[in-house]
Amino acid sequence: MKKSQDFKTLCVHAGELKDEKYGGAISPLYMSSSYAFNDVEINHYPRYFNTPNQIGVAKKIAAIEGAEAGLLFGSGMAAISTALLSHLKSGDHVIFQDDLYGGTRNFIQNEFSKYGIEFCFTSGTEVDDFESELKQNTKGIYIETPSNPTLKIIDIKSISDLAKKSGIWTMIDNTFASPVNQNPISMGIDIVIHSATKYLGGHSDICAGAVLGTKNSIKQIFSSAKNLGGSLSDYTVWLLERSIKTLFIRVQAQNTNAKLIADFLEKESWVEKVYYPGLKNHPKHNTAKMQMKGFGGMLSFDLISEMDCKKFLLGLKLIKPTMSLAGIESTALSPRLTSHALLTEKERISQGISPQMVRFSAGIESVEDLKKDLLQSSKIQI
Ligand SMILES: *Cc1c(COP(=O)(O)O)cnc(C)c1O
Repeated sequence: MKKSQDFKTLCVHAGELKDEKYGGAISPLYMSSSYAFNDVEINHYPRYFNTPNQIGVAKKIAAIEGAEAGLLFGSGMAAISTALLSHLKSGDHVIFQDDLYGGTRNFIQNEFSKYGIEFCFTSGTEVDDFESELKQNTKGIYIETPSNPTLKIIDIKSISDLAKKSGIWTMIDNTFASPVNQNPISMGIDIVIHSATKYLGGHSDICAGAVLGTKNSIKQIFSSAKNLGGSLSDYTVWLLERSIKTLFIRVQAQNTNAKLIADFLEKESWVEKVYYPGLKNHPKHNTAKMQMKGFGGMLSFDLISEMDCKKFLLGLKLIKPTMSLAGIESTALSPRLTSHALLTEKERISQGISPQMVRFSAGIESVEDLKKDLLQSSKIQI
């Protein structure tokens, strides 16, 4: 798709397939898992990541991230595990940010040693914390900003500069920001990963992943991907295309709601602390302002010690106390009881996850209704 087109236009039109036969307005869906034999190199087959719908939507996401190429996966974790394994071999070392999506951390801790891959988690989120972990065999740096669930911000440009200086690659999990709010390739990051289950999908009804990068890095990832087999069904690909058409307006609405909810919670006496990069008192507000176009739809807050977190969540009537995030409906959860339950208490405390923490994913409902719901649940206890 032409670079000259605006983000909103790319969301709607990039990568669309033409209905040559009937002239329909949307991409036809090709469900075939068997195609005419062309050539061993270019045979179309779902697990070769090259069916018409896969190619179209990979192009769409690459266009909105400003990447040369992309691949779609059956889940965010399939995207993450394949991207990492394709770039690592026995004896290599990788530096990971300390606060990572729980599934990513489990993957590293449970699988890497089986392949002889060395790794470390940084002690903080400053560039110095990454630099001090560099070793002779370090091959790459992997980050996630804003982080889950404490909304820590890492200076993306400083990390990509450090990596370039050291001759190593960088990967970022850009799920929380979405391509609407942050485009890390423009800041020098090599590979961008999304759990498309979240904002790209946006309706809490599909599981998918995506990896974006240069043509060469995507080629390298593909050569492992076809062996690991984590491709996405074409029906889900087609639903994902439909979702991305409205990505811009959904995320804009979620950004607005999250900021208004953060402002509201900051003034409430039953809230101890609010974590949102869009707040002036966020320790990295200025960095967020520099590298993000919007501050995102995710925020967290700590309830005061007199309140019971579980009771608060169960008292909500409109906001759903469910897992996952980024849907058009607002949801809330306790990281300690759900998304980060597999960490030890010590690991949680070191990441700043208190038992009083609530993680909130802003939907697109009326913000007044959301505030009313939060308030009524707080009153059950105080
Ligand atoms: C959900 C999530 C993932 C994993 O994605 P799945 O689609 O569930 O496999 C990875 N990173 C982040 C930040 C996520 O929120």
